[in-house]
Parts: sequence; structure tokens; C-alpha cells
Amino acid sequence: MYNAKAYSAASATSPLASSTIARRDPTQTDVQIEILFCGICHSDLHQVRNEWSGVMPTVYPCVPGHEIVGRVAKVGSAVTKFKPGDLAAVGCMVDSDHTCPDCQAGLEQFCPNLTLTYNFPDKHLGGVTYGGYSDSVVVDERFVLRVPSNLNLAGAAPLLCAGITTYSPMRHWGVTKGKKVGIVGLGGLGHMGVKFAHALGAYVVAFTTSPGKKEDALRLGADEVVISSNAGEMAKHAGSFDFILDAVSANHDINAYINLLRRDGNITLVGAPEKPMALSAFGLIMGRRSLSGSPIGGIPETQEMLDFCGKHNITSDVEVIPIQKVNEAYERLLKSDVKYRFSIDMASLKSE
Ligand code: NAP
Ligand code: ZN
Repeated sequence: MYNAKAYSAASATSPLASSTIARRDPTQTDVQIEILFCGICHSDLHQVRNEWSGVMPTVYPCVPGHEIVGRVAKVGSAVTKFKPGDLAAVGCMVDSDHTCPDCQAGLEQFCPNLTLTYNFPDKHLGGVTYGGYSDSVVVDERFVLRVPSNLNLAGAAPLLCAGITTYSPMRHWGVTKGKKVGIVGLGGLGHMGVKFAHALGAYVVAFTTSPGKKEDALRLGADEVVISSNAGEMAKHAGSFDFILDAVSANHDINAYINLLRRDGNITLVGAPEKPMALSAFGLIMGRRSLSGSPIGGIPETQEMLDFCGKHNITSDVEVIPIQKVNEAYERLLKSDVKYRFSIDMASLKSE
């Protein structure tokens, strides 16, 4: 065991603060990573503030962070994929049972014995897992990803959650050239959704509550931008979408988007608001439309997504911050005031 520096929250109402945590020494199959950048996902904020208490109650102290890129510091004797000095990345998962049908299919995100990167029982040290707001992490090599060398590292970190969470449902629902795709909410996830839908060749419409994001949305790859409070603009798109990805973090009217789907169209929720949302049955019945959800993506698909990003030179648009600004960043995230993901430069932790 060794001590690592981290930022943790002591309770749902405490700010994140500098602390020391225990990390395990790498086992035979583990990779120890020096963390260079960690993105700030809205899920970190939901978890730190115990907003998902009904489904995933938070255990304190909580060290969030699941958009991790860094450099390999040490490897166990049986590790074959990585060597010290390599770039490496870790997303939302750090372990699974490897034997269930989901793991066998490379869909570890559905494994009943999944271990998430933070706030999940830690099989090695007891307590719960600690995430990437830290100077290092130790992870089984099966959950460590390769980062294409041409990508900017601060911008690559958010690919590990915002990237895969938007890429995976688009691949599942067949987003390709000729499809009309809507992306709702231009935050960390949504702006990646716009980039991927565009790169996959779709006709992309971005829906935002923030008129100030219109120019950016076009630059990111949207063909059209709709300000969702404008009923007239919304009505123009009624019954026309093949697929809509809803990446909104707060409660909102999903029925307004269901009505924009064509026959057999699908809307997938990736945003995870705190409270249940109202659903009108008729929106789904008329048009045989479907509503589904999607969690992150499996390890093979996460690597596929990173390689796709390497090929198309796709990264997240980031505002790089020192860890000392993390509490301020959370307040700004709540005001949708980030273009479009905070990425923490972990070198800033050295001075703590
Ligand atoms: P984010 O950066 O805060 O973006 C959320 C966006 O939603 C905002 O930028 C804003 O976009 C829109 N929005 C915020 N409040 C709104 C409101 N009251 N009404 C309508 N729109 C509103 O968050 P994120 O990191 O992208 O995460 C988004 C959600 O996905 C979170 O709930 C997060 O927990 C969840 N998530 C799920 C998964 C998964 O596996 N399914 C993975 C990661 C994250 P505009 O300014 O454009 O309106
Ligand atoms: Zn996330």
C-alpha cells in the first residue's frame, strides 16, 4: 500500500479538499498510472452531493473522477499490454467478473459484478474505490485503455466518459450518413455527441437552452441549432428525427423531444437527472417510437472510440484548471458555464 494525494469530499455539503488516500501496490495484473489529466463529469457532482442517493448512495470520503489519462509508472509481472512510460487511460470501470455473458460479449458495463472507478466496494483494500482526482491510480490492465499519440491529453481525458457515453448509443442505434440526429444539451456529453454524429456522417441538429452556444454548436459540427424554448423552431422539426440523444443533467420535458421523432425513431437518455421525469404514453404510441437509456460503453468499444478519435483527430473542447479551482468549477457546471468540459491538470496537486 502507498499514499496518494487526492481531492475528496467529506460529506454531501462539504467542498472538495486536499487529502491523502491509500492505493494498493500493483498486483501481477495491475498497472500503476501517474495521472496527468482528469475531466470533470456532471456525474462527479451528482455523486459528491449524493443526488443519486436512491440508486447509488455516496460513501464518504468520496474521491470522484472517471475521465483519467496519464503515464504508466509501474506494471505487475503478468502485464502484457503496457510498460512504464506508456500513455494510458481509465474510464468509469475498473473491474468486472469476466465470466458473465455481458463480459464475454465485451459489454462489461452491464456486468452484475461491475466495479466502478469510484464509490464502489474495493475488493483489494476494503472501503470504496477512489477516482481520478488524484496523482495516481492502480487498475487491472483489462480496464486500462491506449491513448492515440496524436491526441491532446487534456482534451482526450473526457473521451473516457463523455466520449464513450455518446459514441456507444450512436453506434448501437445505427447513426450513419443519411440519418437525422438530434443532440439535446450542449454540455460535456452533448458537445461530444455533436462531434461524433457529424463525424459519422449524420445531419445534426443541436438543441440548447443557451442562445450563446449557437455559434459553437455550428463550429462543433451541427448543421442546425434550435433554441429549445422557441416553440416555433421546435415545431418545424416535428416527426422528423431518426435518433435523438438526450444529454441533459436536470429535469426537463422529454415529451417535447419524443414528438420530434419519426416513425420507429428512438430517443436515448444518457443524462441522469436527480428526479423522475413525466412521460406521455401517446408520444410513444403514435409513431411506435421508443425511449431507451444507455450507460457508458464496454472496454472494446471504448478502445474503438479512442482509435476513431485518433483517426479523426477528435478531442473534447476543454478548459484546463488546477485542482484548487474544482469547487468553483462545480458551481460553474451547474450554470452550464463551461466550454465544454473542465479538465484538471493534475500537476497542480503536487503543491498540496
Ligand atoms: P453538463 O456538462 O453539465 O451538461 C449538461 C447540459 O444540459 C448543460 O450544458 C445544458 O446544456 C443542459 N441543461 C442543464 N440544465 C438544464 C435544464 N434545467 N433544462 C434543460 N437543459 C439543461 O453535464 P454532462 O457532464 O454532460 O452530463 C450530463 C448528464 O449525463 C448528467 O446527468 C450526467 O450524470 C449524465 N451522465 C450519464 C452517463 C451515462 O453513462 N449514461 C455518463 C456520464 C454522464 P444547454 O446549455 O445546451 O442547454
Ligand atoms: Zn462521467
